[in-house]
Amino acid sequence: MNESQLLKIAEEFGSPVYVYDAGKIESQYKRLTSAFKSVKHLKINYAVKALSNISILKLFNTLGSGIDTVSMQEVQLGLAAGFKPEQIIFTPNGVSLNEIEEAAKLGVQINIDNLSILEQFGTKHPKVPVCIRINPHVMAGGNSNISVGHIDSKFGISIHQIPHLLRIIENTKMTINGIHMHTGSDILDIDVFLYASEILFETAKQFKNLEFIDFGSGFKVPYKPGDIETNIEELGQKLSDKFNAFCKEYGKELTLAFEPGKFLVSEAGHFLVHVNSVKQTTSTVFAQVDSGFNHLIRPMFYGSHHEIINISNPKGRERFYTVVGYICETDTFGNNRRINEINEGDILCFKNAGAYCFSMASNYNSRFKPAEVLWHNNKAHLIRKRETFDDILNNQIAIDFSNKKEKELVK
Ligand SMILES: *Cc1c(COP(=O)(O)O)cnc(C)c1O
Repeated sequence: MNESQLLKIAEEFGSPVYVYDAGKIESQYKRLTSAFKSVKHLKINYAVKALSNISILKLFNTLGSGIDTVSMQEVQLGLAAGFKPEQIIFTPNGVSLNEIEEAAKLGVQINIDNLSILEQFGTKHPKVPVCIRINPHVMAGGNSNISVGHIDSKFGISIHQIPHLLRIIENTKMTINGIHMHTGSDILDIDVFLYASEILFETAKQFKNLEFIDFGSGFKVPYKPGDIETNIEELGQKLSDKFNAFCKEYGKELTLAFEPGKFLVSEAGHFLVHVNSVKQTTSTVFAQVDSGFNHLIRPMFYGSHHEIINISNPKGRERFYTVVGYICETDTFGNNRRINEINEGDILCFKNAGAYCFSMASNYNSRFKPAEVLWHNNKAHLIRKRETFDDILNNQIAIDFSNKKEKELVK
């Protein structure tokens, strides 16, 4: 997608608008599958929570992907997008036994990450095969908010609890058909990942009926020039070798599974906003846009860096700007950024806006959520309408306080 195509989309569909490039999603999917081509059975389950629009899910279905879901509603979205239950894995955390049973009843592969729930589920449904989520206690990435494999994490069953886990399986006679880990959202170092995988292989040997091993995700994509990116080709080669060797030892061709979100959709996304005003203060120049953390929360929530470019004036001289939103909170998208000269009315583009952007949007300040557009085969397709005032009022119940009868009762 080039800048003039993006600008046309902003003109046609208005702003703010999320735009996703289907070609980039496809090429990332192919990069991942070809990195692991020496593995006989490979399964990619796209993590729905990164970007959950039904047309995006349908696109993944055409690519041959399965999906990874974390709520019953994501399971239902997947079914509505045409996935079969067996193409769906349900990997929730902290949900009720009830919700897990609902997913299992649909025929979805369930993944349990808690011994209490495992024992209850196995007791009631010993015939339903279950995957278990292991916490290998590996810290991948630097930010403790997004590293979910370490010791204080709420995710997974600790490797130190394996003896208890095995006792539950023996007592309930349930079947464990998969083991899983997800070490966090940013793998900086392939060696850290390979180290965690060794722990998972060691653990896997203790389960006799496995069909798959799921290595989760956490693949890093570049957010700015010079950023480290997971070398997927190198990881693919090294992990494939280890996996194939493990299968030999285990005596069975298992399926190698992954569940990436960010890697598949982050770079495909562009978020286009309109500059409402350029405001000069005593210390800085603010560019104020028609959005805020109601539409894109990552910079404020995680301190994430999103590149911001001025697609209305790509040749303008560069100046320094602090790009902020229009909601009544501090909503700084980028501090002191060098951007081609910004004029009121220009369209700015945020890059890497595919993963965890629209899916985290809210109606804070009673603003509408943005529209979403999919760029596919050189054509822009609207895949979500911009909200209207009816959406804001929907589900709200207005009490009529002037009701006479009630007034009399009060007397
Ligand atoms: C969020 C999540 C993913 C996807 O992580 P990315 O960093 O977006 O690739 C995969 N697996 C599980 C269990 C998750 O919760």
